[in-house]
Amino acid sequence: MTEAEKTDIKSLLPDELEETLKALGEPKFRAKQIFTWLNRGAVSFEEMTNLSKPLRAKLDDAFYITAPRVARRQVSQIDGTVKYLWELRDGNAVETVVMSYRHGNTVCISTQVGCRQGCAFCASTIGGLVRNLTPGEMLDEVLFSQLDSGMPISNIVLMGIGEPLDNFENVQKFLKLVNHPDGMNIGMRHISLSTCGLIEKFDELAALDLQLTLSVSLHAPDDETRSRLMPANRGRGVDALIDACERYFEKTGRRISFEYAMIDGVNDTPAEAKLLAKRAKKAHAHVNLIPLNHVEERQFGPSKPEALRTFIKILEDEGVNVTVRRKLGGDVEASCGQLRRKAAQKTE
Ligand code: SAH
Repeated sequence: MTEAEKTDIKSLLPDELEETLKALGEPKFRAKQIFTWLNRGAVSFEEMTNLSKPLRAKLDDAFYITAPRVARRQVSQIDGTVKYLWELRDGNAVETVVMSYRHGNTVCISTQVGCRQGCAFCASTIGGLVRNLTPGEMLDEVLFSQLDSGMPISNIVLMGIGEPLDNFENVQKFLKLVNHPDGMNIGMRHISLSTCGLIEKFDELAALDLQLTLSVSLHAPDDETRSRLMPANRGRGVDALIDACERYFEKTGRRISFEYAMIDGVNDTPAEAKLLAKRAKKAHAHVNLIPLNHVEERQFGPSKPEALRTFIKILEDEGVNVTVRRKLGGDVEASCGQLRRKAAQKTE
């Protein structure tokens, strides 16, 4: 088979792999052997020494194994955060960040090459969407970050480049792969999916009953500001978003987390805190305040400490559960598409 005709073996679930092997005249248990090799980071069929040589040759003829190349690795001198820029098979690049917390290591993965959501404060969307990542490529981000950094991964957040619900089918398959007991076996309760609010997908996500944490990037409690910051709000609206969150909570029993980047003079007034508190209570949501990361191409700056303090106090007085995200990897540009932008600029 020519390279272009080959199939991406890492994006196949074990039952799909079984079917494929059956078609090749092989017994079912081979699928588990191959799946195990792939999930340990094997980069060639040659390595799969418990398979016969003829089978390895047959597999090599029909499939390819993805393995991203480390285009750049930056290690924070402050907190040990490791940031990767991976070069994919077709030459595209995405970012992955590994952060160390007391309760274990968390990997933040990208779901698309670029993004088409157009949020005004975000670096990932500047060049638009290039393509979706495959399930196997998302698995590779977790797998090869763990192998390269030597940091065992216990938690995953889908908060890197891209909008997970805009690549929903591949994301669902990735979740099944990474959760599989014969694979990396990462529990759904250790996975968070972050969305800019593509509410038409919320009911479908709730119906999957996955036990993962849904994070909603809210960033403003009113339509005027939210639509200005986040084009995804236009035509949908905050009321509909809150309704969708409420339905999600009722169906799954899982609390949603609202992400809210505090932007100086844009969304950080006491009036906005009060409206946010009302919205959060209706949606049974927890609020996670994020100090805005400055992005070179964007004009926004982080809120003043005093505005942040007042904002937190109002939320707390209203009985809302609020946390402020700790800033990690500040010295390695560990946020949203900044490394990929820098790499692109160099070649522009
Ligand atoms: N597309 C998804 C996930 C990717 S972004 C989403 O929108 O949720 C992960 C989080 O980082 C989102 O909450 C996003 O709004 C936020 N973010 C993007 N740019 C940022 C910046 N410059 N400073 C702080 N947070 C930012």
